[in-house]
Amino acid sequence: MNSFADIVIHNARVMTQQPGAPEADWIAVSGRTVSALGLGSAARHIGPQTRVVDAGGATVLPGLNDAHLHLFAGGLSLSQLSLVGVSGQTDFRAAVAAYRASRPGLSFLAASGCDYRILGQTPLDRHALDAICPDIPMLVMAADYHTAWANTAALQLAGIAQGADVGEGSEIVLDAGGRASGELREFAAIDSVRACNPAAKTHSRAAQAPLELPEVTEAERAADKEVLWQALLHCATQGLTAVQNMDGSLYQLDLLAELDRDRGLPVRVRMPFQITEGMSPEALAQAARWRRSYATPMLRCDFVKIFADGVIESGTANLVADYAHLPGHSGAPLLCDDHLRALVVEADRLGFQIAVHCVGDGAVRQVLDAFEVARRQNGWREARHRIEHIELVDAGDLGRFARWGVVASTQPTHVPEAGEGYLDLIGTQRSSAAFAVADLRDAGAEIVFSTDWPIAPLSPFLTLEAALARPDWPGARDHRVGLAAALGAITRAAAWIAFDEAERGRLTPGMLADLTLLDRDLSVCPLSEIATTTARLTICDGQVTHDTISPLSRA
Ligand SMILES: [Zn+2]
Repeated sequence: MNSFADIVIHNARVMTQQPGAPEADWIAVSGRTVSALGLGSAARHIGPQTRVVDAGGATVLPGLNDAHLHLFAGGLSLSQLSLVGVSGQTDFRAAVAAYRASRPGLSFLAASGCDYRILGQTPLDRHALDAICPDIPMLVMAADYHTAWANTAALQLAGIAQGADVGEGSEIVLDAGGRASGELREFAAIDSVRACNPAAKTHSRAAQAPLELPEVTEAERAADKEVLWQALLHCATQGLTAVQNMDGSLYQLDLLAELDRDRGLPVRVRMPFQITEGMSPEALAQAARWRRSYATPMLRCDFVKIFADGVIESGTANLVADYAHLPGHSGAPLLCDDHLRALVVEADRLGFQIAVHCVGDGAVRQVLDAFEVARRQNGWREARHRIEHIELVDAGDLGRFARWGVVASTQPTHVPEAGEGYLDLIGTQRSSAAFAVADLRDAGAEIVFSTDWPIAPLSPFLTLEAALARPDWPGARDHRVGLAAALGAITRAAAWIAFDEAERGRLTPGMLADLTLLDRDLSVCPLSEIATTTARLTICDGQVTHDTISPLSRA
């Protein structure tokens, strides 16, 4: 006999992502799976215990995915002062005052999302910050997390008021008098101050030594677990049911495994094993152990992450030709060709998917070369290796994505407005090769979208809008993506890239009940309003994880 569903959503516009059956107007969930869906009446699935949700004509999608984000930093950013949209000294001062008023006794002020030109022409240095916050240490992160600014108290607390050597690629900028100006460039410089923030201390220790469990007190461990928990709940509020947390840290895996066991994760989390500087291919045996240790339906560690270069803004991205503003400088690879190749071939041989951070076209080429060698040496398999970011790609390399089955993992919200100085760095002649998502698509590359949260806001609807309304750049073709393709890149393709396509990413009977009900019908929503879309109901693994209709009572 027919058993009734646990949840039925009707009067909906279900965009299934299922070829041949793209639409339905109701969907039924029983246990962990989608039990039925269709057009017309759902009455036969509704029993006395069934929760019935009237969608009011709004869209239901397969659970949304973010294929590249940073859970811990994202979680921390939720409780930090957000400077997104703050501009000018008056606004800045008011934002700090309001934040501090809501947190009496605050001993360290951490802010994020800061525009490089928040004070207009006035340089952002320790003096400017001292004028706003003289009494407690303050650390302000640029929106891209590659630069930060500290006030005098923070520089003194970190013991770097007179500057310090923080190694190649990072810099504590000095003023004319030889003292730290307050500007901190790149991770090692930023971390020297961040590690003094009681709330971020263990995080920066874990990030520096991702293969080890840091020594922490019970209280620190509990606080860190709470940061991750809040990050996961925030993901659910955005309609996300699966994320790929690119921090390959054993500490985070350990905390997430405990949350998975004790409370149940509200979002599926997939994490990589992080290749660190100087690591030998033999060290990948440890990655294979992590893969065996972390393998539940909600938490997996089954791929490998490598950094091949840095970012354009600081001149650390590896380009094929020189930077426009730095003649003679094209950036350098983080790993030499031989070392990268050895790591890639071994990780591939062990059956891992490999994700490599490549911003510059030189890095993209170096990594495609290594993937090609791995395929030739280890033979064909559907490895779904992926290149992250791809801010620049040389036209000659476009076809190699499809040929070697390499996935383009990109972030639509990272595309700067063309006027923002980006073209001054890469040169206008390279405008057509930047964020070239339409070229990658036309060359047959599989494309997935993500945010890199907290580098960009977590909302998948901002991602959709950015992909659909990509601004025109001088000299570049139209890189806008249609709604169907953009939705595919955050649902179907993002599940596929996690090797989960048989279980999720589409809505059809028997698939996992990972789905999201929106507050509107996306198919008729004007482009200018897509970014304000919200999730009304998120269901992951059959469990309601976010509910604006009858809110969950959960801390
Ligand atoms: Zn990232």
